[in-house]
Amino acid sequence: MFTKRPFIIAGPCSAETQEQLMQTAINLKSNTNIDLFRAGIWKPRTRPGQFEGVGKVGLQWLQQVKNETGLATTIEVANTVQVDEALKHNIDVLWLGARTVANPFSVQEIATALQGVNIPILIKNPTNPDLELWTGAVERISKAGITNIGLVHRGFSVYGNDEYRNAPMWHLAIEMKRRHPEKMFLCDPSHIAGNRNILQAISQKSIDLNYDGLMIESHISPDNAWSDAKQQITPNILGSLLAKLIWRNEFAECNEDKNLLENLRQSINLLDDELIQLLGKRMKIADTIGRFKKDNNITILQTSRWNEILLKIFSKGEELGLSKEFLTKYFDAVHMESINHQNKVMNDDIQ
Ligand code: PEP
Ligand code: MN
Repeated sequence: MFTKRPFIIAGPCSAETQEQLMQTAINLKSNTNIDLFRAGIWKPRTRPGQFEGVGKVGLQWLQQVKNETGLATTIEVANTVQVDEALKHNIDVLWLGARTVANPFSVQEIATALQGVNIPILIKNPTNPDLELWTGAVERISKAGITNIGLVHRGFSVYGNDEYRNAPMWHLAIEMKRRHPEKMFLCDPSHIAGNRNILQAISQKSIDLNYDGLMIESHISPDNAWSDAKQQITPNILGSLLAKLIWRNEFAECNEDKNLLENLRQSINLLDDELIQLLGKRMKIADTIGRFKKDNNITILQTSRWNEILLKIFSKGEELGLSKEFLTKYFDAVHMESINHQNKVMNDDIQ
């Protein structure tokens, strides 16, 4: 199931009515070439009092979608009863949602229900930025004997985050992909974005990071959707979005390009080596400063000195095309390492 690349999953956030589901599927079939049709049957809503899914009846509608369009289907499952119902109704792929993956009890319950069943499973990242929890879910599902597992990056909840609905934290997804190189790795731009305007850019970014495909929400009448209206797009618009995407190769094809890339990477390696050497030297000086401060009974931190360094770095960095965000993160890390070195020199004898 998960060997095709790019692998595209689309369908509405929620199954709402038989008509809505069927019309969306038929239109997806004629406007795109998707591999799997998604729909939420039981919806995990953050706050009560919202549409929580049509429940079991939606499974029959999905069977109808499959019979009439030939599209394979996938739904989210969050407990044993839902797994059993999905299997009874021949759903082709199951996915574990972000809120479920954050709860090892639920993941284990689902894993136990899947014991001895041969069905592909998609595992979304947990709501919180915790790769151990995400990996834990992969391990629990694998231990149940499931061999066909795909991962879906849907962003992480961050309080006060306004650019995205869920912060992508691409570095975490890159690390997860590095840890599980054999697993299909998809992006869910819909839940990262929370609005349809940035879906194209997020999708392209994930492809440029060598993801294997996408899970995107598509609804026949997005503005009238009963859940996640702002982030859904029509099958027609999804068709254009997919057509505009540029799928790149992981490696260069011709030798000349390969050599050029190889040379550029060599230069990067040399510079990284110099950077490490310089950082080592910088920390040796920090050790000497630590000894001096200890002998003269001076605090490690002088805020005025730190401000002076930051100001200089920001203005220099701007000239060199380095963003303030990057410089802040980088120099915070360098400064903390320097403080740790000085602290060690100063307080090594304190247990
Ligand atoms: C969904 O795909 O509709 C959904 C609820 O996703 P998530 O678990 O990523 O919030
Ligand atoms: Mn949704």
